[in-house]
Amino acid sequence: MYNVKSLKAEEFISDEEIRETLAYADANKDNLEVIDQILTKARERKGLTHREASVLLACDLPEKTEEIFALAEQLKKDYYGNRIVLFAPLYLSNYCVNGCVYCPYHAKNKHIARKKLTQEEIIKEVTALQDMGHKRLAIEAGEDPVNNPIEYILECIHTIYSIKHKNGAIRRVNVNIAATTVENYRRLKEAEIGTYILFQETYHKESYEKLHPTGPKHDYAWHTEAMDRAMEGGIDDVGLGVLFGLELYRYEFAGLLMHAEHLEAVHGVGPHTISVPRIKHADDIDPSAFDNSISDDIFAKICALIRISVPYTGMIISTRESQEVRERVLPLGVSQISGASRTSVGGYATPETEEEITSAQFDVSDQRTLDEVVNWLMKLGYIPSFCTACYREGRTGDRFMSLCKNMQILNCCHPNALMTLKEYLEDYAREETRKIGMELIGRELEKIPNPKVKRIATEHIHDIGEGKRDFRF
Ligand code: SAM
Repeated sequence: MYNVKSLKAEEFISDEEIRETLAYADANKDNLEVIDQILTKARERKGLTHREASVLLACDLPEKTEEIFALAEQLKKDYYGNRIVLFAPLYLSNYCVNGCVYCPYHAKNKHIARKKLTQEEIIKEVTALQDMGHKRLAIEAGEDPVNNPIEYILECIHTIYSIKHKNGAIRRVNVNIAATTVENYRRLKEAEIGTYILFQETYHKESYEKLHPTGPKHDYAWHTEAMDRAMEGGIDDVGLGVLFGLELYRYEFAGLLMHAEHLEAVHGVGPHTISVPRIKHADDIDPSAFDNSISDDIFAKICALIRISVPYTGMIISTRESQEVRERVLPLGVSQISGASRTSVGGYATPETEEEITSAQFDVSDQRTLDEVVNWLMKLGYIPSFCTACYREGRTGDRFMSLCKNMQILNCCHPNALMTLKEYLEDYAREETRKIGMELIGRELEKIPNPKVKRIATEHIHDIGEGKRDFRF
């Protein structure tokens, strides 16, 4: 039986409720009265339930799709402005005991190169990342209690935070590791992680079990209830995601929103971010073997619907997507993107050659450098942001949400974005990028509504030019 507040996976992600939702969506997908009521609610910024959002996803009337896209763009502008936060993934280890059929790290893959970074290698990787200008990382690892125990992950986090090279610093480490215990989540929190990210992969239990035939990840309940344990362990910024292509997208979409509703109902705060990865080619993985792949049009619609359904939740697009697709979905509500990513273990300091046996998790579509990405964002009218202020100022969980809900972003995140962009331009940018960026900062400072904040931000930006670093509101 469906119960949003239950702590049992099969009750808060009830298969029956999803099926009824999909039937309701089919029955109403051309019902203009229902559709308009839902759109009015979204326009009032009240968010949407999984049922309401599922009706809009099922509806294929072109004029309604247009309305959804326009509304998503508006909400993105109102809540997030034109900032896009940048990060990079850092692969620590690809040792893995699981059998995930879509991932080349699966235990039976004997020809992928298995690697695990030593602390010395981490210093090299992080130095390379700092030299590009990154300030925010998402660490990734396979699940292997012997090779990658929690102590190893904690040691890596400690090392990453301690590396100070020139003006570089990693100021926020997000963590994407397998579901673990409340105690281990508590230890991650103590290690001062930012967001704990765990993709559900699929909400469909039967498919989930088939797609994860062996290893600890096989346990659907353990995986699906992980965010509750993370929150119990004190982590209040968690990131959800579905790997699109594994199951029917309408099923996944309803499940994803139900998961967000569950976190809000039980813990009083919804997910901090939602990621929308699609399956990619990788070592022994052929994406065409998964027959639920979604078109770019559906992908864009899903992004737009996430934005209007959970307006206060950030949305992440990785380099799995091409420049073209990224450009299309950025205005629809994306708040974070990765740049210059390498999905191989050790790939930043020593990129793998074509001839080498790969250690990569998937092929990267957007292969541009960070400077190219920064330059491109600015030409599109966005502010590339390297801000990490929120969690360092204790604005996590519902405190971040209230900043967003009160639309204080222009007085807080906006100047933080400009100050961190200025650091990037001073320390890492090519001349052309620097020029575009300086002009952009000049224009964007004018948009800060509070005169005191504007004055202080202007002073700090001047001081960054004089060599000072790490200012924040
Ligand atoms: N091992 C951890 C876990 O089980 O959650 C860490 C996650 S893994 C390093 C990061 C994510 O990459 C996975 O959750 C999965 O969704 C995604 N992934 C795996 N194989 C992929 C593929 N072939 N294409 C695109 N994404 C993939």
